[in-house]
Amino acid sequence: MILEGLLTDTLAAVDKTLARVNPVLRAQEVGYVRQINGSIVQVTGLKHIGFEELLQFPNNLLGIAINLDENEIGAVLLGDSNRLKAGDEVHGTGRQVDTPVGESLLGRVIDATGKVLDGGPDLKAADRLPTERDAPGIMDRAPVTVPLQTGIKAVDALIPIGRGQRELIIGDRQTGKTSVAVNAILNQRGNGVICIYCAIGQRSTAVARVIDTLRQRDALKYTSVVVASGDDTPGLQYITPYAATTMAEYFMERGKDVLLVYDDLTRHARAYREISLLLRRPPGREAYPGDIFYIHSRLLERSTHLNKAKGGGSLTALPIVETQAGDISAYIPTNLISITDGQIVFSSELFRKGFLPAIDVGNSVSRVGGKTQLPSYRQVAGDMRLSYSQFEELETFARFSTRLDKETLAVIDRGRKVREILRQPEHLTLDVHEQITTLYALTSSLLDSVELDKIKDSELEIRTHIAEQASNTCQKMDSTEALSDQDWLILNQAIRRILQPFYPRSPVEE
Ligand code: ATP
Ligand code: MG
Repeated sequence: MILEGLLTDTLAAVDKTLARVNPVLRAQEVGYVRQINGSIVQVTGLKHIGFEELLQFPNNLLGIAINLDENEIGAVLLGDSNRLKAGDEVHGTGRQVDTPVGESLLGRVIDATGKVLDGGPDLKAADRLPTERDAPGIMDRAPVTVPLQTGIKAVDALIPIGRGQRELIIGDRQTGKTSVAVNAILNQRGNGVICIYCAIGQRSTAVARVIDTLRQRDALKYTSVVVASGDDTPGLQYITPYAATTMAEYFMERGKDVLLVYDDLTRHARAYREISLLLRRPPGREAYPGDIFYIHSRLLERSTHLNKAKGGGSLTALPIVETQAGDISAYIPTNLISITDGQIVFSSELFRKGFLPAIDVGNSVSRVGGKTQLPSYRQVAGDMRLSYSQFEELETFARFSTRLDKETLAVIDRGRKVREILRQPEHLTLDVHEQITTLYALTSSLLDSVELDKIKDSELEIRTHIAEQASNTCQKMDSTEALSDQDWLILNQAIRRILQPFYPRSPVEE
């Protein structure tokens, strides 16, 4: 008996070794579909399959081996299961799921496997790399030092993002989350940052809108759009953000700066939950499987700023997550908040009131970006955050009281003007000098005597004319140089000149 047992063990071990060393033998192994359950397939007969190995089904259908049981494999399909039937043959491929990478991806709309979705010619990708790759080690990373300008005043001034940072965009449905992320992409035109917009589980019309905006604004040439729409299988939705990250890493590893938007990870988590439930894995909180934290942490861990020895490239991640009724303490949102380096919170109340972008400044934070912010921002936006949150509290309070002291009234007046200045139309991206001059006008009291309803007009006036009035200083700001006292003086005088028509009488003296 014992001998027999030993013999089978040895035979099994030999079998395994053979399979490892002899790919031919392994390739000859044939499995069969036993059961199809939506996009989950149980396969019998494949003994030597690795975790997350790509499986080949008939009709060019691919699947990923996710559950490796003793007698069976649970696989998730990447395509339509309609033509698949029980008894069909299945083969291992000996390779992990991989994705095309290279310059030829720019300007294209593709899915995670490299299938072209924009009707253009097939992709001539330089190479293929696995979708799951190790995150760069600690020693290969460098601190985040360079800002990633989004072109949005509220973000660049109050919640600055650095290249290599992971900043969560969080908010209810239809609060302008996608719009801010797309703005950030639009603002990278001409500065060498490569962008990837990764859409997961979105409606096709929403994705089409984003692509349209990118195309119209000439941003598609440095952007690649990776899509798994809501109609695609959960398997494809699940691998898409990893594939997009691999595509981004290709550029990062060649010293480039990359901006990657994941829109959105709520749907990614749902796709993974669907897969896990169909595989009968034990459900945990909110029916998500126990490793849901890990699937997002290992994804976002791959964003970083590489050190000089590794080429100095960076990967900035803007993951988007949706909340229900503003509840940022739900399971997936809290997971993501704890994984990322800060969050930009969107408020449906601000959206309703028309204060767009509807960013809730008080609840938003950027933990590493502050250090990267250009020095001139710090001079104009230094205490704006604090005074703005003070104002928000006071404004609520002021509704109940009619008599307020002068000081409180001044704080409220300034706060309202700040809010007005922070409003920004969709897809309008502002240069550094445009942002700084308007914020400077506000914080240095140059707008104090301008009526609230004229603030927007006066801002436009400043933005349009400042470059001609103080061109050297503006150039300095855009080239990220620090400004001297003399520069600020020049700005001050130029803004006063521009604002002349908005002042009631003569300009106020400071
Ligand atoms: P979803 O939850 O559906 O993904 P979302 O939070 O991504 O929505 P968006 O699609 O970006 O929100 O924006 C919702 C709507 O608000 C869109 O119609 C968009 O045009 C409009 N919008 C967003 N930002 C602004 C803005 N700054 N100014 C004017 N309109 C805006
Ligand atoms: Mg959206």
